[in-house]
Amino acid sequence: MKKSAVGAYLILFLAFFLPALLPGREAPVPEPREETPLPESAPREEAPVRVLVKGEIREMAMEDYLVGVLAGEMPASFEMEALKAQAVAARTYTLYCAAANKHGEAQICADPSHCQAWQDEDTMRQKWGEGWESCAERLRQAVRATAGQVLRYEGDLIFAAFHASSAGATEDSGQVWNPRPYLISVSSPEGIDTVPNYVTELHCAALDFRDALLSVHPECDFSGGPETWIGPLERDGSGRVTAVSLGGVSVRGTELRKLFSLRSTAFSLDYREGLFCFTVTGSGHGVGMSQYGANVMARDGADYRQILAHYYPGTELTTV
Ligand SMILES: [Zn+2]
Repeated sequence: MKKSAVGAYLILFLAFFLPALLPGREAPVPEPREETPLPESAPREEAPVRVLVKGEIREMAMEDYLVGVLAGEMPASFEMEALKAQAVAARTYTLYCAAANKHGEAQICADPSHCQAWQDEDTMRQKWGEGWESCAERLRQAVRATAGQVLRYEGDLIFAAFHASSAGATEDSGQVWNPRPYLISVSSPEGIDTVPNYVTELHCAALDFRDALLSVHPECDFSGGPETWIGPLERDGSGRVTAVSLGGVSVRGTELRKLFSLRSTAFSLDYREGLFCFTVTGSGHGVGMSQYGANVMARDGADYRQILAHYYPGTELTTV
């Protein structure tokens, strides 16, 4: 069900407050940097990657591929240490996908809704215009500085999930997919001042709201007035909605996110003047590294190792 199909419309607005729904959390305070060098065995050259791009397999050098991933996943203006953290997460994710063998001859695809985003040089040139070379060089610098580096947990490559922005804390993987010991909820420092469109609203007319719900849960009872349709919201420890009672039926937060194209499951829901209103904080599934959170940590002095250790606790930064 798409927004347009239910007659809903999205209002991006700059809120001057953080929703009261989210518990206050302390931003991570980075420890002083420690220069613990990686083993000297970082390979000079990495194996090429076979990427499925619009149905065609393209083989490219890992460095070139990761520059394209960074271009697709992060603004080039982000702090260098955040870009480096993203490069390590993306390399780890790439090799994890390659080992999972999800794409036959290819190792990973360029569809951000399936594997991870990737942009070719033409797209970068178009996006950055005259400044494209300096933007691309920043990304190359981040990739080169972390050549061959990956994250492991108990010796195995991790599923290095990442997302755009969190709502005070990241999500526990078990709330979205399978639980993983290194994808647990941790604090994340980004907020209204550091993330564009951090808080969004989605309004949906009562009858469209009802029809959308009935399309997936025909057992919902909407016989009363719309003001009676919303029951209690259940939240997990990160403040995200795990379930809402709607028309007497418990609907999962992740299901509502998909149904109404909400940017995240960190939302509140109320009914006023004929409209159901979702107020949503942050963007993405919330699991693993928050990209905007990484940028704030870097701005506050954390290096990429500290960022990765924060968002993927218990993992080890090592070489391929
Ligand atoms: Zn894929």
